[in-house]
Amino acid sequence: MKIELIKGDITKIHVDAIVNAANSSLLGGGGVDGAIHRAGGPQILEECRMIRNRQGKCKTGEAVVTNAGNLPAKYVIHTVGPVWNGNEEKESKLLANCYYNSLKLAESLGVKTIAFPNISTGVYRFPKELAGKIAVDEVIKFHSDIIEKVIFVCFDDENELIYKKLLDLNP
Ligand code: ADP
Repeated sequence: MKIELIKGDITKIHVDAIVNAANSSLLGGGGVDGAIHRAGGPQILEECRMIRNRQGKCKTGEAVVTNAGNLPAKYVIHTVGPVWNGNEEKESKLLANCYYNSLKLAESLGVKTIAFPNISTGVYRFPKELAGKIAVDEVIKFHSDIIEKVIFVCFDDENELIYKKLLDLNP
């Protein structure tokens, strides 16, 4: 599995699946969630509503999939990151679950390329260094015969620098 880093907007990335840092309502929000629904159009929210009606809210650390509307991706995998409240052990495990469950779901869909945002590091206030380490560790230890490439999409300079260091790329 190849791992890449891109600085930019995840809605523009041409991959089989992009991951959304959703909230448990699945009904949209700010940050990357808002950007995905704005760029992807109403079909994504429509499918989110259907999922909600079927199974209720999405629990923290879990993932669900919808179409990707007008985005270049085929699927949007919505995962709910933990809100940082300082309970490092518990919240780290939940964040790791986001990456693991998204990758598992992607595999079940035959996804070859997938892009992740820096889940929980915006409004949910997870410390960026720790979140980056958890994300990279979880992806590295996930061995897959199906997924060929994972792209970490960093939107802000701070995350970009953190991921460059973690992935041993020249800053
Ligand atoms: P959370 O509620 O999980 O913290 P946010 O959307 O607030 O979710 O932030 C998660 C990360 O997504 C942040 O690092 C933020 O900089 C980043 N982000 C915001 N918009 C985009 C976008 N269009 N593409 C990729 N990443 C984005």
